[in-house]
Amino acid sequence: MKQYKMWIGGNWVDAESSKTYPVYNPATEEEIARVALGDRSDVDKAVTAARKALPVWSKKPQAERSQICMKIAALMQEHAVEIGKIDTMEHGTPAKTAATSVIISSQRFEWAAYNARSLMGHTVPANSEELVYLQREPIGVIAIITPWNVPLAMVVGKLAPALALGNSCVIKPPSINSLTSLKLAKLLDTLGLPPGTVNIITGPGGVVGEALAAHRGVDMVGFTGSCETGKTIMSLASQTVKRLQLELGGKNPVIIMDDADIDTAVPDLITGQFRNSGQICGSPGRYYIHEKVYGEFLEKFKTAAQKLAVGDPADENTQMGPLVSAEHRNRVEGFIQSAIDEGAKVVLGGKRPTNPPMDKGFWVMPTIITGVKQNMKVAREEIFGPVACFMEPFNSDEKALEMANDNRFGLTSYVWTNDRARGMRFANELQAGTVQIGHSAGSGPELPWGGYKESGIGKEGSLYNLYEYTNLKRIQVDLRTTKK
Ligand code: NDP
Repeated sequence: MKQYKMWIGGNWVDAESSKTYPVYNPATEEEIARVALGDRSDVDKAVTAARKALPVWSKKPQAERSQICMKIAALMQEHAVEIGKIDTMEHGTPAKTAATSVIISSQRFEWAAYNARSLMGHTVPANSEELVYLQREPIGVIAIITPWNVPLAMVVGKLAPALALGNSCVIKPPSINSLTSLKLAKLLDTLGLPPGTVNIITGPGGVVGEALAAHRGVDMVGFTGSCETGKTIMSLASQTVKRLQLELGGKNPVIIMDDADIDTAVPDLITGQFRNSGQICGSPGRYYIHEKVYGEFLEKFKTAAQKLAVGDPADENTQMGPLVSAEHRNRVEGFIQSAIDEGAKVVLGGKRPTNPPMDKGFWVMPTIITGVKQNMKVAREEIFGPVACFMEPFNSDEKALEMANDNRFGLTSYVWTNDRARGMRFANELQAGTVQIGHSAGSGPELPWGGYKESGIGKEGSLYNLYEYTNLKRIQVDLRTTKK
């Protein structure tokens, strides 16, 4: 059995306790590796190493740091197939997309590398006797705590800007699937970074994650995960007033107007809904469909969902693999049952497949629930699975908006109409960090991503995100009292 150590201060080490825990293949339930089970003492070591590296890394010329980020991108691209295979094995990502998704992630390093070189300061027009200028500086030690749903991409989204801008980092990847992040650390280890610039520590969120969030030696927490854990982290981080970037959950509305092109909307939304088995924070969560097109949309969506190739993720033809764990599969099934109990109807899926190879592994078939009401659990909470919730149809724009905004989350939203002005009116009113009109495709490093309301604080991607990984300093020089 392959054993994985943690990377602390430039060394590959076991947990102080010498304990390990298992990692499973979610498609076969087989144990595939054992990983070091870190705890608080390991966190202390990692934070100490990051603090030691900080003055060395942060004082390197920006050009040098950017070059290293470019090298990381190149290494990820070179090893994309290998990393993709690990992702398929530990997460169930279909082989068809796994390597491409590593390449897309690597572009975050390229983008951060270029743009970190262009982050300029400002001078402030004060008066002729004063020089006032603003400069951006690294924040310090960043704790990066990430979820299991796209394990490598979630780490890279925070590591790329943090590192490019001169911060040192302690990464706490998800416990269920940390192997792609550990592989990334192996690649970083070939680049001669000052020891401790990046550290990776594996272990349970309730121990390692909490210790990092509360640690006095950590200056900022970059977190992606559930809203509930985000709130715990906010509370722990408040003890030392840490900076926070929080990418939390979503329950994203999709509005299908009566003038929408259904034949374009359906294939796009099928991909958006069932990609990564619905385990995506930006997945459509609630479908609001105009009563005039409800029947047509439901029928076409159902037919397309039935055609999805669900199965062995290692097979190049598979479009949808398993869920990440038995626990998560049970949770998703619990949501489906709650909808039935509350009076909604499952019109597709909702069951575990029993045919090989899916008689093993953690599967839920593509599922459609109709008759969902605003107050039902499946309408209010994030399911994070291959489950489309069709709300009761609407018949006015005002009603659609009111229902779409009636939720504690505000991550993203989707509007389908052929009338651009009508779509843009919706965009102004929707309470979400992103509004996508006429498509549900993914994001790029130049685009800000981040939620309103309980979906989080701050942005991932874009220059706004780069600013979040720097402190802004005002320097004010009195030209009269400084004569030389
Ligand atoms: P969790 O919040 O359970 O876990 C996320 C990370 O936090 C994991 O590394 C976890 O460790 C760690 N953690 C768990 N408990 C604590 C704690 N008490 N203190 C500190 N860290 C802790 O989320 P999931 O992994 O279940 O991921 C799914 C969630 O992530 C969904 O809500 C989804 O919407 C959200 N997400 C949001 C995105 C966005 O961009 N807004 C993108 C992707 C996902 P461990 O693995 O050991 O439990």
